[in-house]
Amino acid sequence: MQMTIPSRKEVIKDIKKRKGLVAAVLPIHYSRALLRTFDIYPIELWGPPKVDVSLGGTHLQTYVCSIVHNALSFLKMGALNVADLLLIPHTCDSLQGLASILIDLIKPEQAIFPLYLPRGQREDDLTFLADELHSLYAQLSDFTGKHPSDEDLLAAIKREEMSDLLMAKLYKKKQLMGINNIDFYRLIRSREYLPAEQFSDLADEALQTSGEPIQGIPIILSGIVPEPMEVLSTIDEMNGEVVADDLACCGRRLYEPGTGTDPFRRMAERIIYAPPDPTRGNSIEERVKYLTGMAQNTGAKGIIFYDVKFCEPELFDLPELRNALKEVGLASINVEVNINNPLPHQVATRIGAFLEMLDS
Ligand code: SF4
Repeated sequence: MQMTIPSRKEVIKDIKKRKGLVAAVLPIHYSRALLRTFDIYPIELWGPPKVDVSLGGTHLQTYVCSIVHNALSFLKMGALNVADLLLIPHTCDSLQGLASILIDLIKPEQAIFPLYLPRGQREDDLTFLADELHSLYAQLSDFTGKHPSDEDLLAAIKREEMSDLLMAKLYKKKQLMGINNIDFYRLIRSREYLPAEQFSDLADEALQTSGEPIQGIPIILSGIVPEPMEVLSTIDEMNGEVVADDLACCGRRLYEPGTGTDPFRRMAERIIYAPPDPTRGNSIEERVKYLTGMAQNTGAKGIIFYDVKFCEPELFDLPELRNALKEVGLASINVEVNINNPLPHQVATRIGAFLEMLDS
């Protein structure tokens, strides 16, 4: 399937031409709709890979993950000068640390907006997050001088909900589209920087296509982000078929549509009730139930936990999570990478051996 996906650079150029503002957004959860009502376009920063990490390394301990090392280095290279602001959700200690370093020490030109996320799904968590989003609204209002109405917010929320529904349809149709893993994830991950309406157009186009179904060894990919993306072409070459994912940048953000007419509560609901995520405090039991259900629905034979080295929220769960999955008959492996490096040969070999074992 041949699709033309605009690059980040092209999207940013277009935003600037339309006098929109660019927000560089760090992982994982936030409300795209809230930013868009202020004519701020989120461009997410999952690293990126392939930067000179010595620039960020002077401010960070070596045991901080490569997402944070790379993001800080990218900023210090001047590559974020196109951004008008930075949004840093309080996803983990490493990102909270990054926000503090930026605010207290580096003081970049861009305004910095932290976003605190609750670690549960109780009514209090929902209220807390709705209040947080309200407070971010007030800060963005001061920053831009704009005061979008509840109707503006609801329209933006519904536009994002439509994009997320289309993304969910892409996952359901993946195996019938004749699309390989790398191309599928290029499309899915364009949601990280494309405006919702542009992503929806692309998704619509992709959903019209069909091809020879790919009959690879069905697996689930879990972790934070499939970087370097080479891991996906490696899985393609080894006849693996990612039939679903539990990746923070993708499947864990398959937000359901919200309910109700209070925009702040609706934005909060979407995040609070998203698929289980260790950074939002979901329990091992919830994750086991979710992953086994995913495997049953998709026919996945095993899970590759593809983790960023030193990612504490992911790594804390893994021993117990993998043991519990083993007890219910779901095989898994865990590999760890530094997103700045090419895919290590040893990791590719271990993935290959795992796929062979599943196929035997
Ligand atoms: S990879 Fe893990 S530790 Fe690093 S920013 Fe993401 S959640 Fe935090």
